[in-house]
Amino acid sequence: MSEDDPTTYGGLSPVAALSLVGNDTRAGVLWALSEARGSEGDPPVLSFSDLRDRVAPEMPSSQFNYHLQELVGQYVERREGVGGDRDGSGRDGGDAATLHADRGAGYALRSEGTFLTRLVRAGTFTGEGTREGIPVGVDCYFCDEPLAVTYEHWIAEVQCDGCEHVYDHNFTPPGVLADDPDAVLAQVAAFNRAHRLAFARGVCPLCGSEPSASFVDPATLPYPRPDHREVLVHRGCGHCGHLDYLTVGETLLRDPAVVAFCFAHGEDVTTTRLWELEFAMTDDVVDVRDRDPWRVAFALERGDDRLGIVLDDDVAVVDRTWNGAEHRPPSSDPF
Ligand SMILES: [Zn+2]
Ligand SMILES: [Zn+2]
Repeated sequence: MSEDDPTTYGGLSPVAALSLVGNDTRAGVLWALSEARGSEGDPPVLSFSDLRDRVAPEMPSSQFNYHLQELVGQYVERREGVGGDRDGSGRDGGDAATLHADRGAGYALRSEGTFLTRLVRAGTFTGEGTREGIPVGVDCYFCDEPLAVTYEHWIAEVQCDGCEHVYDHNFTPPGVLADDPDAVLAQVAAFNRAHRLAFARGVCPLCGSEPSASFVDPATLPYPRPDHREVLVHRGCGHCGHLDYLTVGETLLRDPAVVAFCFAHGEDVTTTRLWELEFAMTDDVVDVRDRDPWRVAFALERGDDRLGIVLDDDVAVVDRTWNGAEHRPPSSDPF
């Protein structure tokens, strides 16, 4: 492995890190520590014997210890109690943080173990895993057909039955599912907003990297009805592979002037569901001025007031006017 190859904090390649979990006992250890953790506070520390009782009570100690030690340094950390070998594993040294040493000897999840088990939890559900036809409360902006959300297999979708325009087709974990359809709708809307805004603001919601930003011609994408759109913004994470396509309006929900302009006219775009924001759902106020390099204008008009924004090829704001006057945020940063 060369210096340039990605490694985990435990010094393993991605494949080596994944392969460590490919064993029932090890997976059981991670799950037991995750179950013990719940959603509050620091990771609990389970003693060797407690962990073995929970995961594989019939397994000889030495065999269980072998599997447990394979996880130590990657997904699990060993914490020392006062006085050395207090956990019964036969080892007297710890390799990890002693921050919580006062809580007794044993084993706890490292951050990698926490993230991995949370990710698996995020993909699980109980009961029915699909939903159909939850009314959004908004009619299609193109054909007036009432819109509805469908949820299936990690995808929340809002597609018009009348004209096939796709408003949303989002990677959404099944945690949004609930018994009450209104609750599902609320969770999908809130998750959708958080996710979109993270990409709009330039942070991958999964790994924290800065995603690339570029304009794309809707005709080059598989979405139906490219004739309904002027342009889309692609944000792609080179680190973890996560990606999203946003409208120009969705992208500009990060812009303080858009938030302030709408607020001044009685609209709170920080809480309104995205489906209810026509400027975010359609390109009616978007004007593609150039395609090579891209130059895209966006304008909101309310009464006699007008907010105009121009984005360059990097999807960065290069011009912003409020009623014709240049409008900059109250900082030294350009736009
Ligand atoms: Zn429609
Ligand atoms: Zn990422």
